[in-house]
Amino acid sequence: MRQDEKAIFKFNSGHGALLCSKCRVIIKTGKDFTEEEIMAIKGKIDMPPQYCNKCKNKLCQEEDLTTTSTK
Ligand SMILES: [Zn+2]
Repeated sequence: MRQDEKAIFKFNSGHGALLCSKCRVIIKTGKDFTEEEIMAIKGKIDMPPQYCNKCKNKLCQEEDLTTTSTK
């Protein structure tokens, strides 16, 4: 499986961090994790890629561009 097809986690000094799958910026750290994210960081479940707000907006815009032409 390609790394950018699932959520990216990083560990530093015992604390996990969730990274944007596109630009690798830290989206949130361990204390803000949801139960799903805790499961994913432990490798118990696979999580889809997570993106920071900047990349999320960019992805939305790209989707808009491709979908508006069919409307
Ligand atoms: Zn990003």
